Amino acid sequence: MLKVHSRCDLSCDHCYVYQHADQTWRGRPVRMAAATVRAAAHRIAEHAREHELPVVHVVLHGGEPLLLGAAGLREVLAELRAAIMPWTRLDLRMQTNGVLLDDELCSLLVDHDVQVGVSFDGDRAANDRHRVFAHGGSSHDHVRRALALLRRPEHEASYAGILCTVDVRNDPDRVYEALLAERPPRVDLLLPHATWDSPPARPGPGSTPYADWLGRLHRRWVDEGRPVSIRLFEALRPGGGGTEAFGLAPADVLVIEADGSWEQVDSLKTAYHGAAGTGFDVFGHSVHEAARHPGVAVRQEGVDGLCATCRACPVVDRCGGGLYAHRWRTGSGFDNPSVYCADLLRLIDTVDEADLRPTSQPPPAAPVDELLDDLATGHGSAPTLALLAATQLSITRALLVACRDRAGPTAAWELLVQLDQAAPDAVRAVLEHPFVRPWLVHRLDPSARSGVRPAVDPLPALAVAAALRAGVPAAVRVPVRTDTITLPTLGSLVLPGLGESAEVTVVPGGFRVRGGSTERTVLLDAVEPSADWRPARGVSVPGGWLLIEDGDPYRDCYGQSVAPRLAEPAARALGRTVAEAWRVVHRDVPAHAAALDGGLRAVVPLTPDPARPLRSATARHAFGAVAVTGDPDAETMAVLLVHEWQHAKLGAALDLCDLVHPDRGTRISVPWRPDPRPPEGVLHGVYAHLAVTQVWQSRAARGGGDASAHADRYLTWTRDGVDALLASRSLTAAGERFVGQLRHALGETRVGSR
Ligand code: SF4
Ligand code: SF4
Repeated sequence: MLKVHSRCDLSCDHCYVYQHADQTWRGRPVRMAAATVRAAAHRIAEHAREHELPVVHVVLHGGEPLLLGAAGLREVLAELRAAIMPWTRLDLRMQTNGVLLDDELCSLLVDHDVQVGVSFDGDRAANDRHRVFAHGGSSHDHVRRALALLRRPEHEASYAGILCTVDVRNDPDRVYEALLAERPPRVDLLLPHATWDSPPARPGPGSTPYADWLGRLHRRWVDEGRPVSIRLFEALRPGGGGTEAFGLAPADVLVIEADGSWEQVDSLKTAYHGAAGTGFDVFGHSVHEAARHPGVAVRQEGVDGLCATCRACPVVDRCGGGLYAHRWRTGSGFDNPSVYCADLLRLIDTVDEADLRPTSQPPPAAPVDELLDDLATGHGSAPTLALLAATQLSITRALLVACRDRAGPTAAWELLVQLDQAAPDAVRAVLEHPFVRPWLVHRLDPSARSGVRPAVDPLPALAVAAALRAGVPAAVRVPVRTDTITLPTLGSLVLPGLGESAEVTVVPGGFRVRGGSTERTVLLDAVEPSADWRPARGVSVPGGWLLIEDGDPYRDCYGQSVAPRLAEPAARALGRTVAEAWRVVHRDVPAHAAALDGGLRAVVPLTPDPARPLRSATARHAFGAVAVTGDPDAETMAVLLVHEWQHAKLGAALDLCDLVHPDRGTRISVPWRPDPRPPEGVLHGVYAHLAVTQVWQSRAARGGGDASAHADRYLTWTRDGVDALLASRSLTAAGERFVGQLRHALGETRVGSR
């Protein structure tokens, strides 16, 4: 380990280099001098030559090694390569905080085949608990930017992984998700350095908080099919091979400090001032001499180098007494078990239990791959639609729980939970309503707590709607918004005088409302229309029952003006057109019709606009619905439905898997719009246009008018869009595969197919 720069641009309060017992950094040069690098490189080469080593691993470390800058780093790498590579294979690595990483440095690291590990502690709250600048500012965005740079296809060969230091005050699920979101090839979880003199923080009542915290993360990792290599968990399994922190393998790390001193592993800096020192340096002493220092030699004796407690321990071959530094206690030195002993014992139990236990769910990677492959045919089968719908429902349920967490347990929540047990179909029918998720999202949006449309609690209305569907008696206090109570999937009651909330009681056949000075009973199957109860209306379609949704206030999520409640004849006319269009889709493109049958539940009328009479839209949060302008002919409506349903399916797939890298400002010119589009917009465009191509080709095959010209135009657009996407370097690996398969689907779709 080469300490090429001994200062840092961050000021982490858990840093063992600057914040723990050892303070030798203060007397060391800021950066390793060229002569020291040369001497170090020659010592390593000398050792490799004398012992005929097949490989040596050199880790550039600090402080922060990137503070060398590109020129300084290039010189160090050149020196190491020139001296060592004639004698052995050189495995170059770097551990960095990532703050200074840029394109030039990434290219340099790739060119010199340096594997880069980035220190990153998880979600923003977790990372910034410790990893901050000297002025206290967050490093989170800087590190995420560095990780995104390393993920780029031209740099990913140098992306080795993430080093995360555990803090049990952090939320393990959020940390886990934040780490995985960076798609690291490997994760190292590090217990915070501590000794018996300076034990680790143990907040909370549990005696093994580190094992409990890591156990939660481990359970999730196992349940999800071990989606990434996590070294700590792998090392603790029987035969896991161990690491510097675990197991009985001989220590094989030496540190060369910025002044050329040989030192033992630098985690020893946590024990006492000067703990890592050997008294040797690269100018006067070889690797061999440094390795004979008693502190290094004792860690090459396996179990014999451990304390009596560890020697008698049943899991000593896996634990190995933990990290050497964690055994320190004034008086007995390192002749102790780890200060994390109880946690390590418990954690090894957890690892063993997981190996015995069947995973609670299959690895997600394969189903997602299969789902994407199926969607890349251009339409997607019924099972794929069912899976998309199920995952959308999961998201809605997760949002529901987040709302419950915000409000605390309420009678409405209790009712929903009971109904979910007793009448799951009723709850499911309500939660699958496309505008429940927009409502929940709005409720959770901090900016929506006041303003034009304050977010009322959705849980009471959802509970009442489910109870009504189940026919279960219940009474719940429901918030009233602009004199209206909306019960998703059922309708809206518009009744002035109810006040801010009203008591809603489910009664046989309907419900009774009491609020302010007003009381009203609504019977859901009443034959006579009433002015204040506006029931949801629908139409029978080949896929089942389709709502004409013109009452739910959260249907205005399309970035376009939605029409107010339609008069009865207009609602019936729209229903007739959509039902007929649906049959046209079955006639033209049966595979797309099957996908439509599997998920489309509602149509929202958009406000007519003479300047743009034909419009349609989908919204990412409202899976299961499309918005259209009213009453075009059924043939045109069929194209709109197919087009929009493609967006809905792709949006749901994007909730499961990133197909496009996060927005880096890339814009792509496309033939169907005058303005260059972001990559995700282009992806949506090609997916929709592929389906529209297939509709027109089907019509062209039946000899319909100018259908062939339409088909050719959409096919050209789709092909150009696919090629532009593939050339843009904006796709993730999954995105490359998906778009590549779309191109394959296009290959089976010929211009001029008539
Ligand atoms: S980035 Fe690393 S070296 Fe720098 S202060 Fe933080 S822990 Fe210490
Ligand atoms: S530290 Fe504890 S768990 Fe580990 S080997 Fe020693 S006694 Fe066993």
